[in-house]
Amino acid sequence: MTKPGTYLVKEIFGPTIQGEGAHAGRPCVFLRFAVCNLACTWCDTDFSRAGAERITASEIVARLVELDRHGSRMVVVTGGEPALQWDQTLCSALRDAGFRVHMESNGTRPLGAPVDWLTVSPKPRFHGARDRLLGATELSVSECKVVVDSTVDKTTLTGYEQHYPDASRYLQPCMDDQYEQHLSRTIALITERPNWRLSLQLHKIVGLP
Ligand code: SF4
Repeated sequence: MTKPGTYLVKEIFGPTIQGEGAHAGRPCVFLRFAVCNLACTWCDTDFSRAGAERITASEIVARLVELDRHGSRMVVVTGGEPALQWDQTLCSALRDAGFRVHMESNGTRPLGAPVDWLTVSPKPRFHGARDRLLGATELSVSECKVVVDSTVDKTTLTGYEQHYPDASRYLQPCMDDQYEQHLSRTIALITERPNWRLSLQLHKIVGLP
């Protein structure tokens, strides 16, 4: 049963580093919510309710403060889909504790409260159907990060440039069993479209969670 004032959290961990996008390399702590509104076939994130716990905003903040023992005061909020649970109570509790909030979303749901940095990583089903993604008037998108596999081409990039005109733009090769092809494709795309930049999953490369 849902308890009012609680959040279904999959894991809280740190200290680690943000591995992706414009803030790659920055120390931080992570808050991962359970539950997602999509079911991408290649998803490698366990966001199931199994093993998740319901806790309050003050309990979340207390754990993050304890983990953030070096005082980065940067929390990456992810999921699942974090927009499903993000609200003003948790936002205020984190900000009161001094945290800067960076969220990673699939871009399909409005936010119930502000964040300091919003990364939207659109999934392949939206590459040709961007009308199903919230646009620049509904979401203040800081960064668009497209995971590159065989579904991504120059037309895809043009579509997202128009959909998120003010966002920083990153291409990240998909780390599946065809990584080498995806990396080559990513580098070729960036070479031709230099307003996009390379994002690597640094945390995986250096063996951090
Ligand atoms: S949106 Fe993200 S977390 Fe949700 S199913 Fe797709 S890849 Fe997994």
